[in-house]
Amino acid sequence: MILIDGKATARQLNEDIKAKIDGFVQKGERPPGLAIILIGENPASLSYVKGKGKACLSVGMTHELIRLPEDVTSEAVEKVITRLNQDPLVDGMILQLPIPRHLDADRLIDLISKDKDADGFHVINQGYMYQKKPSIKPATPKGIMTLLKAYDLDVAGMNAVVIGRSNIVGFPIARLLMDANATVTICHSRTSDLKQHTKEADLLVVSAGRPGLVTKDMVKKGAIVIDVGVNRVDGKLVGDVDFEQLKDVVSYMTPVPGGVGPMTIHTLIHNTFELYQANIKTKDQLNTPGIL
Ligand code: NAD
Repeated sequence: MILIDGKATARQLNEDIKAKIDGFVQKGERPPGLAIILIGENPASLSYVKGKGKACLSVGMTHELIRLPEDVTSEAVEKVITRLNQDPLVDGMILQLPIPRHLDADRLIDLISKDKDADGFHVINQGYMYQKKPSIKPATPKGIMTLLKAYDLDVAGMNAVVIGRSNIVGFPIARLLMDANATVTICHSRTSDLKQHTKEADLLVVSAGRPGLVTKDMVKKGAIVIDVGVNRVDGKLVGDVDFEQLKDVVSYMTPVPGGVGPMTIHTLIHNTFELYQANIKTKDQLNTPGIL
């Protein structure tokens, strides 16, 4: 079994972005900027946000962390989003999920300018993606596609099975796999016989958030397995697949931690860098005599 090392791949790709940012800064441009809104004290969210801030620093991107209390009003969050939408130094913005239940996540995400939507969750960017038009793509699914490419794993013609149908992982990764010419099956909590589907998978993407969900008897010999799940069991981070059982059966597999997680953060950085480049271009066009 070949271990798909998301950590090393992300590090390499982040170094490439850093070199490009250094180039822009040396030419006198400002560095790119990411704003992160964190509501409440969820320990997992705090740790994700810390990782995202560290990644920004490592590539020479500025970041602003806006922390709001658990009981913040929707109006107060809206005010912050509006301010960040107007701030020319903010290229990308994310609202760290999950947010408290009294707030409407979809509504707040759609208030973020679609041109600053570094997570690719805005309804317009999602619409563009489902219509196969250029757009900012959700970080985890795009990160998985980048990881497969880094290992020269061409999914065209493969039977791909995705477990999970959320808007941030399962559903969009199915779309991107289909765009890459895989034949895709989506399974979910109401799928009656999960094993019947997973057994047929050349590529299995597991994003259910259920530790130990996928066992040896459920996979085909030589399958490629991408484990998106992040679960804390007895103080340890584990994925959704039984890694020890599967490692002698499959051909490629991502570990947890060190697989999809670092690629999600890399893609957030990559998305922000893309938004930055678009902003710089617009600024240059506005400064060119004869335009506007
Ligand atoms: P979610 O709870 O929104 O969706 C889970 C999906 O799994 C649902 O569609 C549900 O139908 C399906 N499901 C649940 N139990 C199932 C079962 N027994 N059999 C088949 N399907 C089942 O979660 P999400 O936001 O999509 O995240 C999924 C997992 O991925 C979580 O563990 C989350 O922490 C992790 N995640 C990791 C990253 C990363 O960067 N590594 C990013 C996002 C999410």
